[in-house]
Amino acid sequence: MVYKIWRQCGSKKRYRDEHAANKYRKIFERERGKKLDYYWCEYCKGFHLTSKESYLEKYYAVSF
Ligand SMILES: [Zn+2]
Repeated sequence: MVYKIWRQCGSKKRYRDEHAANKYRKIFERERGKKLDYYWCEYCKGFHLTSKESYLEKYYAVSF
């Protein structure tokens, strides 16, 4: 599980702070027409964007 999360992390764009993540979240939401979230990633010490669905998936993967 941890390995899977780490791999997802490597393929995602990383934002160094919450402000940047939030800015790009709004841009991509407008572009793609769907809701996005950002979350703190402890592996690369940055923020990633994700859709609501995969955010939950990640949450459970980390919890168990
Ligand atoms: Zn990461």
